[in-house]
Amino acid sequence: EKLVDGEFLTDQQIDLIMGSIQLGIKHEIERRPPNPELNSLPDDFKVISKMTFDNWRDTNNNIQYPDFSFSTYAPLTFHYFRRLFGINPKDYVASFCNSPLNELANPGASKSLFYLTPDDKLIMKTVQQTEDECLLRLLPSYTTYLTDNRESLLPKFSGFYNFQSKSIDNKFVSMNNLLPSNIKMHQKFDLKGSTLGRKASDSEKKKNSPTFKDLDFNCELHPEGIFLKQDTRLALLKAIEKDCKILKDFNIMDYSILIGVHYIDRALKTVDKTLQKNDDLKAAAKRWDRLMTDSVGEKSIQVEAWPVSDENDASLSGSIPAMSVNGEKLLLFVGIIDILQTFRTTKSLEHSLKSFKLKITPGVTETANSFSVQRPEFYASRFLKYMTNSVFKSMLSPQELQKLSE
Ligand code: ATP
Ligand code: CA
Ligand code: CA
Repeated sequence: EKLVDGEFLTDQQIDLIMGSIQLGIKHEIERRPPNPELNSLPDDFKVISKMTFDNWRDTNNNIQYPDFSFSTYAPLTFHYFRRLFGINPKDYVASFCNSPLNELANPGASKSLFYLTPDDKLIMKTVQQTEDECLLRLLPSYTTYLTDNRESLLPKFSGFYNFQSKSIDNKFVSMNNLLPSNIKMHQKFDLKGSTLGRKASDSEKKKNSPTFKDLDFNCELHPEGIFLKQDTRLALLKAIEKDCKILKDFNIMDYSILIGVHYIDRALKTVDKTLQKNDDLKAAAKRWDRLMTDSVGEKSIQVEAWPVSDENDASLSGSIPAMSVNGEKLLLFVGIIDILQTFRTTKSLEHSLKSFKLKITPGVTETANSFSVQRPEFYASRFLKYMTNSVFKSMLSPQELQKLSE
């Protein structure tokens, strides 16, 4: 049983809800023209398109769905995003609706549920209270921003939905999956640039593929940081800086950078290659060699929301070549995640806000509000500083090393 929206649900009930959501998405997409007019986007930001499904029965699979309603937020806007990300409506439906979604074992501390599409491309996450308002508020700027900044590391949202039945009322957002399952992630990091409690718990560490945090990164696994070619590093940090700025402008904080680390030689040496096909291993090694010698700049860090094959494996697209301090070849899978919490709604901070108020000397009219605008700014600058000084370090390129040895 799991707690969803304040209710305990059995796995069977959750499966039925996920099935209903798939049904909702399919109908929503299929009732729209595949190429709608997009010049009325601003009118669309507040649209909620609702459908009701009463007594719906799938006779082929003998499934009786609960009566439910399914709402799609800003349908044209998300259509626009999908087009921007190269996801055509048919592929989107195929990805989400043709077979059951796979649940990702509760990766966060919050009660959000995560589902991965069978083709490994998209993630559906339940949206917590207040996060929905944040997303809707962000939408107009996010639209312009993503249009102008293809190298952004922000989540690539491709749909926003509300499922309602008698007892359940839940919102979901779909976004790109940053960590392809066919590439072994030898390490996974969720980094924020803070130290407070930023350590993987013992139970997390026992997991098959644990997510490590800031202190694990700094004190144990990469105390010297991870080394990037100079142009790649600058492009990546520039992208992070821009992303942080828009998040700051929207009072958003508590986001993380997610980094999946694939060790190329470790993977090649591993006897058990069940996790990764030989071709994927070779493609990863080839990509590393190519990107380390090419001067690719910003192009090398563009995370594709909908990876398609080029000469390499599609799932490698957007991965960044890097090196460990010991000279091991790494491919990094990087993105900024969990961007829908604003300062005012960040629960963990209510305490610090309270303690701050207590410290205010009587007579000093520093308001909680001016404090609250500073916090996201502080968060963003600490985040960027951490990425610049402790995570992504600069290395000499093979050419530069060559020049030194001459
Ligand atoms: P909390 O608010 O407690 O931090 P949350 O439920 O909001 O947690 P997130 O922080 O969004 O969850 O994500 C938790 C974990 O899920 C991440 O550390 C990462 O391992 C995984 N994850 C989240 N988003 C993605 C994504 N787009 N691709 C791959 N993995 C993801
Ligand atoms: Ca988080
Ligand atoms: Ca969160």
